Amino acid sequence: MRKAELIVFTDLDGTLLDHETYSHAAAAPALQRLRDRGIPVILASSKTAAEIAALRAEIGLSAYPAIVENGAGILPAHADSAGAAPDYARIRAALDRVPPELRRHFTGFGDMTDAGVAHSTGLPLDQARLARQRSYSEPGEWAGSDTERAAFEKCLADEGITARYGGRYLTLSLGGTKADRMDEIAAAYGNPPRIALGDAPNDLEMLLAADMPVLIRNPHAKPLPPLPEKQAGRILKSTKTGPSGWNEMIHSLLSKAQSRQIGA
Ligand SMILES: [Mg+2]
Repeated sequence: MRKAELIVFTDLDGTLLDHETYSHAAAAPALQRLRDRGIPVILASSKTAAEIAALRAEIGLSAYPAIVENGAGILPAHADSAGAAPDYARIRAALDRVPPELRRHFTGFGDMTDAGVAHSTGLPLDQARLARQRSYSEPGEWAGSDTERAAFEKCLADEGITARYGGRYLTLSLGGTKADRMDEIAAAYGNPPRIALGDAPNDLEMLLAADMPVLIRNPHAKPLPPLPEKQAGRILKSTKTGPSGWNEMIHSLLSKAQSRQIGA
């Protein structure tokens, strides 16, 4: 891949996509400006490769890889799916070896039907079907106590599996994070300065791994947790929400970068 002058990593829901309508239309001018300058835009989400591939094509970003399943894997450029999924098979096999008295408290997407995932997530049925096509991680509902969860996680850790509890889902993976994937992808483009955009606490890892972190305003999202002043002071904040905020902030950062170049 050729060296880029900048690279953009972005969350989808509430960031590049409108919280209510899921439209990215308001970000079109900024996306075009990035395209004209050959700046890669990397989608980063908890969604699966199957969910991201169609969206990535629609936004016109299929030339770039995407970070899927919360950093557990990468969807290569131009691919429709992540291909064979040995990570997922390994996680499911490890689940089969957890003692039944602990295992029964965990209901993974692989234990549910498409309709079950639709019911659990609130996704429409066709999207729930794509959300079940997993390659790198297994989210599930946890119905046991915290003590039982610690024992369950210990059994899986012994098999090299990492568990992350987001309050709603307990997600099992072989351990990659969004920040790890950012390093990997940025390296492939010659490690240019990184812009990262997100709207919620689950984007914090990505924001902190960027040179120019941008928080997109979302009145529906929880605020970021308190951060050390040095970190908090670095985070730029949009005034507009969703794709309008995305558009606003990318234009402003590109103009700043340009005037720096002219001044140099
Ligand atoms: Mg979001």
